[in-house]
Amino acid sequence: MDLVAYVATAPRRGETVTGHAFRTVPGGKGANQAVAAARSGGAVSMIGAVGEDDFGVRLRASLTEAGVDTGGLRTVEGESGTAHIVVDGEGANSIVVVPGANGTVDGLAHGDERRIAAADALLLQLEIPLTGVLAAAHAAREHGVRVVLTPAPAQPLPPELLAVTDLLVPNEHEAAVLTGKSDPYDAASALLASVPEAVITLGAKGSLYAVRDAEPVHVPAPRVKAEDTTAAGDTFVGALAVARGEGRPVQDALAWASAAAALSVQRAGASASMPHRAETDAFAAGLLEGRTSR
Ligand code: ATP
Repeated sequence: MDLVAYVATAPRRGETVTGHAFRTVPGGKGANQAVAAARSGGAVSMIGAVGEDDFGVRLRASLTEAGVDTGGLRTVEGESGTAHIVVDGEGANSIVVVPGANGTVDGLAHGDERRIAAADALLLQLEIPLTGVLAAAHAAREHGVRVVLTPAPAQPLPPELLAVTDLLVPNEHEAAVLTGKSDPYDAASALLASVPEAVITLGAKGSLYAVRDAEPVHVPAPRVKAEDTTAAGDTFVGALAVARGEGRPVQDALAWASAAAALSVQRAGASASMPHRAETDAFAAGLLEGRTSR
């Protein structure tokens, strides 16, 4: 559950500031990507855990409402995972994640492998223990399912995980943590030593797509007024996975995912801000025809 405080300027260490609004919003990178993919038109199954608390009830309901199959979402003792988010006056955020129930997802449960095997793609993030991420990624690889990994929260990754990752989607910060390189072009070529394909997301600057044996391609972001960038990356990944799963050429899929993410940053909240497929189609068509500015 995202606990979001809106402030003019985020507090520095030791400082207290007064915010002007507060919301509790269903979130979590896995749930966000699930909702983004479902709204983008994908058939989505969520594997994870919520706590026995009120947040758990709300989180499950919000996934169900988005059309996500929650058969693989277990309810465990204790608190649900929470993210404590501060959004500043420019729409930028800083976040503390407390895993709660997510910390119990350290391996596959009954039925998870079947769910993974039935999919085109497995979307993974690092808000569950690495052992759980690895178990799911290995199951996907065994069944020929594409593994898409968002390496967030940022941390160095074991070679064993990179070896079973098909597409890595870090933001600029995560790419720098993984490679030690702050220039995205340098980071992209370093990432390709470990994975066949990577997209580094660059916020309002768009994204950088890199695949082995080709020049990296910069994909611009549509120019929009950002109100809240929370879950922009998750919206991007969810939409990208659906577009790729439909067999769209990679450049089209990236442009479509950028359109979805640009829509999401113009609205407050995480999953609440994610566009439905028809909205993304209309916005992307407007971009192509020059009705909306890049
Ligand atoms: P978050 O942690 O807020 O979910 P992120 O850091 O994972 O986001 P970003 O690189 O900030 O990911 O954004 C992901 C994508 O969203 C970008 O590649 C871009 O396409 C789109 N995006 C983000 N911010 C903006 C913006 N201000 N205007 C237009 N598009 C944006």
